Amino acid sequence: MDTKQPYPDDERRWQAVVERDRGADGRFYYGVKTTGIFCRPSCSSRLPKRHNVEFFRTIEAAETGGYRACRRCRPGTASKEQQLEKKIVAACRRIEASEGPLTLAELAQGAGLSPSYFQRLFKRLVGVSPKQYAAAHRSRRFKEQLQTGSPVTEAIYAAGFSSTSGAYDKEKDQLAMLPKEYRAGGAGVSIHYGIAQSFLGWVIVASTEKGVCAIEFGEEPSSLPGQLRRRFPQARLQQGEAGFAVLLQEVIAGINAPARGIDLPLDIQGTVFQQQVWESLRRIQPGETRSYSEVAREIGRPRAVRAVASACAANKLAVAIPCHRVVAKGGGLGGYRWGVERKAQLLAAEHDQGSE
Ligand SMILES: [Zn+2]
Repeated sequence: MDTKQPYPDDERRWQAVVERDRGADGRFYYGVKTTGIFCRPSCSSRLPKRHNVEFFRTIEAAETGGYRACRRCRPGTASKEQQLEKKIVAACRRIEASEGPLTLAELAQGAGLSPSYFQRLFKRLVGVSPKQYAAAHRSRRFKEQLQTGSPVTEAIYAAGFSSTSGAYDKEKDQLAMLPKEYRAGGAGVSIHYGIAQSFLGWVIVASTEKGVCAIEFGEEPSSLPGQLRRRFPQARLQQGEAGFAVLLQEVIAGINAPARGIDLPLDIQGTVFQQQVWESLRRIQPGETRSYSEVAREIGRPRAVRAVASACAANKLAVAIPCHRVVAKGGGLGGYRWGVERKAQLLAAEHDQGSE
């Protein structure tokens, strides 16, 4: 999941089908016109002719198109890769919740995997070994670093970063910059950032001392700091230090498992109206969607449908403020600041994670 790129076109989708690419599972489905059956990209059934194939972003779309699910690859159930990802995410949560150190054998047994395979898989998906991950969460030295380190990491620690299911501190969401500073594009505000890959491509994560202030997708890692600069032209931008990697990793984990979400203090900056819209979006549960007009009604401004759409488009906090859960009224996907393909993939991932 650390190297997955979105599927920008049917040509690459077809390539994934030809290769029976497991990494493509959950990101699109294909229907075979001659049989009326739809499959995951990795399905082991006989390869259909290209001209008999059409692609769907979601299971619903395939079903609406008149297809029924293949009995062999069983779209709608978690793919092998997704099941493994889930096991590793569960292991992370277990490490975080544990009072004492857990051995590799204990963790592997909990996941139902052999220790050596568990170790390799964990490292591939999380980027560090289970031991390193545990150390980051537990060691006294790490905590001391957090306490004496940058304000960003202090904020993470104070928010109880290690227990992502913990109570959400609403005060952390308050407008961090004073309105004057905000108008000046973040003048005098210090912003740390880091860049990493998610299953939807490259991501830049930025944080002020109050919380995460931007999560944005981009095509190239080199273009992302410039993208951030345009959002905060007056702020002091600097690359995050060692402690920032933990925050970055947590955000990436939340993007890769969007049904779980990103439970970190946010530094939400926008107009009062935008903040009302964004607050409303955060109440939409994973796997659910709303139309723009439903959101407008919910905030008591039923006629402000277009303004709601603009506020969604102005969101700087991808996934954390789930603007991908707002779709067009007739069932279309509507727009997405970071490309409608990513929106479709986020919704498909939430659907898959929610249906188990
Ligand atoms: Zn199949």
